[in-house]
Amino acid sequence: MARPDELVFVPLGGLGEIGMNAALYGFGPPRARQWILVDCGIGFAGEEGLPGVDLMFPDLAFVEAERDNLLATLITHAHEDHIGALAELWPRLRAPVYATRFAIGVLEARRLGEPGAPKVELKEIAPGRRVQLGPFDIEYVPVAHSIPESNALAIRTPLGLVLHTGDWKLDDTPFVGNTTSEEVFRALGDEGILALIGDSTNVVREGRSPSESDVAKRLAEIIAASPNRVAVTTFASNVARIRAVALAARACGRECVAVGRAMDRIIEVARECGYLDGLPDFRPPDAYGYLPRDKVVALITGSQGEPRAALARIADDEHPEIAFSKGDRVIFSSRAIPGNEKAIGRIVNTLVRSGIEIVTDRHDLVHVSGHPRRDELAAMYRWTRPRIAIPAHGEDIHLAEHAAFAKAQGVPEVVRARNGTVVRLAPGRAEIVDDVPAGRIYKDGDIVIDATERALPERRKLAFTGIVSVAIAIDRRGDVAGDPVIDIMGIPDKDRRGAPIPDLIADTVGQVLDSLPPARRRDPEAVEDSVARAIRSAVNNVWGKKPACHVLVVEI
Ligand SMILES: [Zn+2]
Ligand SMILES: [Zn+2]
Repeated sequence: MARPDELVFVPLGGLGEIGMNAALYGFGPPRARQWILVDCGIGFAGEEGLPGVDLMFPDLAFVEAERDNLLATLITHAHEDHIGALAELWPRLRAPVYATRFAIGVLEARRLGEPGAPKVELKEIAPGRRVQLGPFDIEYVPVAHSIPESNALAIRTPLGLVLHTGDWKLDDTPFVGNTTSEEVFRALGDEGILALIGDSTNVVREGRSPSESDVAKRLAEIIAASPNRVAVTTFASNVARIRAVALAARACGRECVAVGRAMDRIIEVARECGYLDGLPDFRPPDAYGYLPRDKVVALITGSQGEPRAALARIADDEHPEIAFSKGDRVIFSSRAIPGNEKAIGRIVNTLVRSGIEIVTDRHDLVHVSGHPRRDELAAMYRWTRPRIAIPAHGEDIHLAEHAAFAKAQGVPEVVRARNGTVVRLAPGRAEIVDDVPAGRIYKDGDIVIDATERALPERRKLAFTGIVSVAIAIDRRGDVAGDPVIDIMGIPDKDRRGAPIPDLIADTVGQVLDSLPPARRRDPEAVEDSVARAIRSAVNNVWGKKPACHVLVVEI
């Protein structure tokens, strides 16, 4: 007898973490399912404590194994935590990718800037349109968010309608792009929503978030009242903010300068899509220096403290075209992504030391989040009335709060899913029925490695302890030939009493070699072992830490 069809939700990233959003929906009997993947984003590895690793991706090994049954990847919007891993991971999946015109523009602009990046098979879909993929009928439902063309997905299947909210907020005056339509979401609710998989980012915040237009108004007032130059740093992808700054500049007779590759790229895509219509062209960066100080505003990348972005380089006086001077004002029209606080703090303090005035969202309404607070979430639950709610897009604290919140809103079934859990949405009660492999992989230089790679713990250890390398030559009779060569990295020069640690290490090596009988000295492994152990112990005595130790015995 054929097994009955099931509808399942399998998150592979973004649940229990900020970033790396990737969610699978499957339809069919177990072992014969067809899949769609929603989003394919990156995370920032800063907080992971992995020296030399900046980016992480969701581990999509499960979809890779199922890729013959993967119908498509659907991108909700162009933020990095939703599209950033596509270029790297698409060659492993190969299925076509659906995205809106703006998101495609962002992907293509980035691909052209990265030689060798794969050409992803992209299919354009307009907000409000539907696409049929096997048993899935997917509607892109426009929502307000901090980037143009953001969409929730209404996924209709023979077993029910799932609403994947993506990132959204309520904003009746979003400045650029769509509002989140009460009418449309009420209609979906009337149709009957089986499950809502929803944004948890701001569930711990009370009330309702201000509008992009409120921010635009304040930015215009602050810029108009500034006596000198003004620089605004924001996410390049926030086109509404770019437009707001450009309009604010024009309103007080200032010219607008765009600085940073990401900013240039987005401005070009936004122009092509018509989001900057009616604005004068941006001036090149060098104009910042020669325009009168009260006649210029700069839009600058690097609001997250990225060391190679324009803002960090300007703060460190290393930018070829832009320098701030005392009395200039820098507005952080942004908020720190968790993990970036230190890097941002360093830049802020550097600027303050140089006499630059800083305005952040703690001082004034110069930034607003693109995610729903509690009143907005309550409205969404009132409109859509889902039978099942699954919190997504958040750290554990956000998911737990959202689960409690959804229950309080009267949702009959609330499921706490984690990356890798298989949640059966239908038929029957929603429940976790299985687990599949999920986790993180890391971009290390130009290579993608997985979390089990030896290099990661080794490098972390080296970063903490430094390393001692010793080369010893031993002849056939077991005598030491010449002096051992010792090299030390990452270890202090002197101990607490001022005695040189390199001397201590050299003495230790000599003592061990003297104490070994010639027969033992003819066994290279025994020598390597004894020397390494003695060095680690001697250094630990004076330093309180054991270094990594590589001893190489050469037989001559
Ligand atoms: Zn987003
Ligand atoms: Zn997001």
